Amino acid sequence: MTEPSILGALTAGMAGGTIKTVDLTATLTPEYPVIELPPEFGQAAQFQKKEISRYDERGPAWYWNDFTLNEHTGTHFDAPIHWISGKDLPNNAVDTIPPQHFIAPVCVVDVSKEVAADQDFILTRGHLENWEAEHGRIPAGAWLFMRSDWAKVVSPDNFKNEREDGAHHPGPDAGCVRFLVEERDVIGFGSECVGTDHGQAFHFDPPLPCHFYMHGAGKYGLQCMINLDLLPPTGAVIVAPPLKIEEGSGSPLRVLALVPA
Ligand code: MN
Repeated sequence: MTEPSILGALTAGMAGGTIKTVDLTATLTPEYPVIELPPEFGQAAQFQKKEISRYDERGPAWYWNDFTLNEHTGTHFDAPIHWISGKDLPNNAVDTIPPQHFIAPVCVVDVSKEVAADQDFILTRGHLENWEAEHGRIPAGAWLFMRSDWAKVVSPDNFKNEREDGAHHPGPDAGCVRFLVEERDVIGFGSECVGTDHGQAFHFDPPLPCHFYMHGAGKYGLQCMINLDLLPPTGAVIVAPPLKIEEGSGSPLRVLALVPA
């Protein structure tokens, strides 16, 4: 085969270094924080790892672990079935979402300066319109990632930034989410914080608008990501296939970005 192909150019670019692979995934540890709901609701389990054998009498030549985790622990994917607004949509769980949706371009909106000054920063339609004036229209089928540099804003042991009145981290308001869903037809919204919604979004109208509108329209969520500062505003491609859990509402996963060097 002498004809240059798109996939050949891709693999040659990855091998030759003109396309970098950036890992947007946090390491799963027992300490990794999970979202906490008011005490009357069911709670998610934290990651647990139990050694089965490690080259010892339990298995002389092999090492392996059992693990326990919640569908929404660590860097993870939210499927439409996660929210009541998306519960009756077709192909709404991690095992039935069309696999081509797991590879998509990304637009990265950098609000790290704003978040450094205000941990309760709210992303609005206006911020996205300003971004588009500089970088062009957000294309249909793209992810919208909100870069906050969250790991630099809070200390590692205070990732959720919980206070007496709940969590404090940035997120979009309803107008921003509706713009992305209804006028831009994105594939989903991604964040470095513990959830795609704002920390105080229980008090928004409607509550948790990113979950409500995104999942109600069959869109996805990614959260607890890292390294969004290594992505360009446009031009990167996200590879994010969740585990194929039967009727799964979401799943921890490895999120990779292919980035032009
Ligand atoms: Mn989730």
